[in-house]
Amino acid sequence: MMLLLAVSFAFSACAQKQHKTQKKETTIMNTLPDIKKDSSQWNKLTAAEARVIEDKGTEYPGTGELLANNKKGTYICRRCNAPLYRSDSKFDGHCGWPSFDDEIPGAVKRLPDPDGERTEIECANCGAHLGHVFLGEGFTAKNTRHCVNSISMQFIPDAE
Ligand SMILES: [Zn+2]
Repeated sequence: MMLLLAVSFAFSACAQKQHKTQKKETTIMNTLPDIKKDSSQWNKLTAAEARVIEDKGTEYPGTGELLANNKKGTYICRRCNAPLYRSDSKFDGHCGWPSFDDEIPGAVKRLPDPDGERTEIECANCGAHLGHVFLGEGFTAKNTRHCVNSISMQFIPDAE
């Protein structure tokens, strides 16, 4: 009888915890700005942003404002607000640009780079240039490094 009681208690504690997690997820999504599907609604870009996002440029290494950011939150596309990366996939790649080992499912498009060697990454919603993705370097268990220009993203911290 005691054992049964203990088991049922464990079950209900677990169910409660799961419920809490789900609730938190909803709060996070609510704090994010609306995704702009149509190009006429896209955010206006500064000249420096356009040079990277539209002309596929690269910001100077070590200078990006999100490079050392380690707060909890979501990295969204600077141009269309689509969520791209979560803070828990960010790691220090020692390369001078923010590094992530995974994207939000479906958020990032991979394309062969014109240089013939690298793989370019773009926002799947608006095609904004983000940077490049590298595989097999062994930085994290996922063995993937999205090397992303800070200027292509905006950081939205999680709501408390
Ligand atoms: Zn975008």
